[in-house]
Amino acid sequence: MKTVIVARPGDGNFVSRFFYGVKSLLTGMRVTFRYLVHPSTVVTQQYPENRKTLKLAERVRAQLSFTFDENGFHKCTACHICEQQCPNASIHVMDRKPAGSTKSELDTFIWRLDSCTFCNLCVMVCPFQVLKMNSNFESSVYDQKLLVYNLTPYAGPASSVLMKVADVEERKKLIDARGPYDGPTALSGFPLAGISKQVFPETTQIGAPQ
Ligand code: SF4
Ligand code: SF4
Repeated sequence: MKTVIVARPGDGNFVSRFFYGVKSLLTGMRVTFRYLVHPSTVVTQQYPENRKTLKLAERVRAQLSFTFDENGFHKCTACHICEQQCPNASIHVMDRKPAGSTKSELDTFIWRLDSCTFCNLCVMVCPFQVLKMNSNFESSVYDQKLLVYNLTPYAGPASSVLMKVADVEERKKLIDARGPYDGPTALSGFPLAGISKQVFPETTQIGAPQ
């Protein structure tokens, strides 16, 4: 087989290589010069200097979060559909049954950012539009445990049930505050990395009534 050697641009003597280098440099700088004289066309974001004014597109999926109605109540019925549909076992819905009731209600909603693929399936399957993806993308931490979130600030029934109770004080009695995720919990049978499953049984319920 005959080998064909193709001359590369810039091959040759010093002068031709010099002019090729200048031409190549100017070609590369063309975009830079264009943005210099037309700053309004710049599309790159000067992050993090613009952190306070940074606006991301609505389609950005950075973190899963809850939606709340105008009274600050969620609409989650603890139906577990999102948990069952999550392909990555990143959601764990903990429910509870209040004394004297046969109906379950949400206790704690755990979401694992560390294993979420941001596929949005959970958002799409929720029958009550409880879930949404927000654009809070600064999630870097040094401890994997901090990538496990509790999305609900309180345990209690959905807003449709709560708002049937006219007395505000009586309504408050139906809900219990919940803080951030506060400990390792085995999710769908899989413990957090480095945490023994035996020590933290899968059925652990944070703050559940005794
Ligand atoms: S976005 Fe996808 S992977 Fe993440 S919690 Fe929802 S269903 Fe699971
Ligand atoms: S977030 Fe939606 S799908 Fe998930 S448990 Fe609550 S109501 Fe059901």
